[in-house]
Amino acid sequence: MTNQAPSLTCPLCSCPQFQQEEARSDSRWGFTSHRMTLLVCQNCRYVLHFYDKNSIFDFD
Ligand SMILES: [Zn+2]
Repeated sequence: MTNQAPSLTCPLCSCPQFQQEEARSDSRWGFTSHRMTLLVCQNCRYVLHFYDKNSIFDFD
């Protein structure tokens, strides 16, 4: 195990730079306790969706 961040690249343009955005789930969706993390490719604006960033990445 290392503390290195996993190498994530955009599936469309292979850009490694992402803008991280957080979105809280709307209550009408039925899972209000979840936060959704969006990673937006800074090159082509492709958006990756993650429902639990802590299980995938170690940002912040
Ligand atoms: Zn991209």
